[in-house]
This record gives sequence, C-alpha cells and structure tokens, in this order.
Amino acid sequence: MKVNGTTKIYGIMGNPVSHSLSPAMHNAAFQAQDLNKVYVAFEVTDVARALDGFRALGIGGISVTIPHKQSVITHLDTIDPVAKKIGAVNTLLIEDAHIRGYNTDWIGANQALKPIVDLPAATVLLLGAGGAARAIGFGLQEKGATVILANRTVEKGQALARDLNCEFHPLADLKDLKVDALVNATSIGMTPNVEETPVAKAFLKHIPAVMDIVYSPQETRLLREAKQVGCKTVDGRYMLLYQGVAQFELWTGRKAPVDIMREKLFSQLDSS
Ligand code: NAP
Repeated sequence: MKVNGTTKIYGIMGNPVSHSLSPAMHNAAFQAQDLNKVYVAFEVTDVARALDGFRALGIGGISVTIPHKQSVITHLDTIDPVAKKIGAVNTLLIEDAHIRGYNTDWIGANQALKPIVDLPAATVLLLGAGGAARAIGFGLQEKGATVILANRTVEKGQALARDLNCEFHPLADLKDLKVDALVNATSIGMTPNVEETPVAKAFLKHIPAVMDIVYSPQETRLLREAKQVGCKTVDGRYMLLYQGVAQFELWTGRKAPVDIMREKLFSQLDSS
C-alpha cells in the first residue's frame, strides 16, 4: 500500500472499534483495485465533533457502528430515505463537506438472501426486534417481500410490527406458518451460547430457506438443523460481507471486488 499526498482517507467510527474486521476488508478492496485510499478505525465518543472533523479533513466515507448508528442521524446534512425509515445509519458518504447517511445492512441482508429466496415474491418470517431486525424488516419490504415478525419480548416485537405494519407472533408461541424463508435476527445461538436455537428443528421442516445473521459460530445450531431437514441455508458472514460491498460501491462508484473482500473477511473471522 502506498500512502502519499493524495491518499483519500476512509474509516469506521464506533466505540469500541479496535476489533473491527472492516479495515482489513476495505483495505484489501482498495488495494485490489489500485485505489489511492486507506481505511482506518476511529474510536469516537463525541459524534458531533467527529463529524465536523471528517468534514474539515476531507475524509471520503465512514462506516458507523455501535453505539453511534442512531445518534449520528441528527448530525447529518442529508439522509437516504430507507435509512430514515429504519432510523439507523451505518455508512457516511462525505463530498465537499456534505455528509449523507445511508444504511447498507438491509442491502447486505437482501443480497445474502438472493441465492436462496425469490425476494419480491417471498413471505419471510423474521425473528427479532432489535437494530438488525429493524433494518432487515424495512429492507425486505423495500424489495417487495411480505414480513411476519416474531420476538421474545412481546411489547418490543409489537412495536416494530406496528412500524412495519406487519403480522406479529410471540417467539415462544410460533405456530406453523406458511413462509418461504426464515431469518434469525436475534442473537440466539451466538458464541458462547452455541447450543441455543430460536425454533425447534421440527418447525423448520416446511421452510424452504433459512438465513442466520449470527456469524460466530459460522454454523449455528439453527443452520445445522435447517440443513438436516433439507432447507437451503446462508450464514451470517454473507450479510456482513455484502453490507461492506455496498459501502465500497457507494464510496467509489465502482463494482466491488467481492471475491477479494470475501476472502479477507472470512479469513479474518476464522482467525478471530
Ligand atoms: P439487539 O438490538 O440487541 O437485539 C437483540 C435481539 O435478540 C432482540 O430481538 C432480543 O429479543 C433477541 N434475543 C437476545 N437474546 C435472546 C434470547 N436468549 N432469547 C430470545 N431472544 C433473544 O441486537 P442486534 O444489533 O439486532 O443484533 C442481533 C444479532 O445479529 C447479534 O448476534 C449480532 O451480532 C448479529 N448481527 C449480524 C450482522 C451481520 O452482518 N451478519 C449485522 C448486525 C447484527 P428481546 O427483544 O426479547 O430482548
């Protein structure tokens, strides 16, 4: 990597941020396309001052992660309409000191689902009512899919279902539903609780496709059991990859080197 007087800076802001896999993935992509760009991590506590700094320094773009995805919105100059509906921003595009906020999490989820679900025509059972479920729910609707929501905490689930204007079921009381896909957007099954799973194996029998957005472990119990009963599956690494791919494309206006980004991200995940 050559850094010189015209190198454009990109980065991720969050807190904590030192364990982020995004610098490795984005720098690999910049290098693969011989772009004079570098991507670094910014541990940020004061969002307003950080954004003023990005404007003043001519930073090209920023990934936004926990805990700033919602609070950053009030400091933007403009916001993409889908990010506004979701109420969370994970990407900043900065041009001539103008900061526009986007959300690429939903784009990543839709792209990850593409090989296993025909989205515009699909009915998707979405588990969860946190930040990820909210982005995925609005994103699925953006693509024309029908969403059915389920969550452990009923009030939280009902509140998101109201925002999405969709059907809701308590997670503990899921009866057989005719759906084309199930997406787990809860943290159930995540390391170290790898023996937990959001639904019984028998429930998966009539569901053609299952995506788990949990990416540690790579194969959750949900995905293992889904495979055993014949579902098509996709693991959580792909949403992570494709949200980054969408960021690269926003920042550069080019097609991302997806294979390079996948290789870098997946090898980082294997060694983390
Ligand atoms: P969040 O805002 O904290 O929401 C957590 C969700 O999980 C809530 O719906 C919560 O239900 C549910 N939940 C947690 N523990 C549960 C349990 N023991 N039983 C039943 N429900 C439980 O988190 P988030 O940001 O949405 O993230 C959710 C998961 O997605 C995390 O594992 C995160 O790592 C992963 N993620 C992956 C990607 C990706 O690109 N692959 C992107 C974002 C997030 P209640 O409402 O009942 O508490």
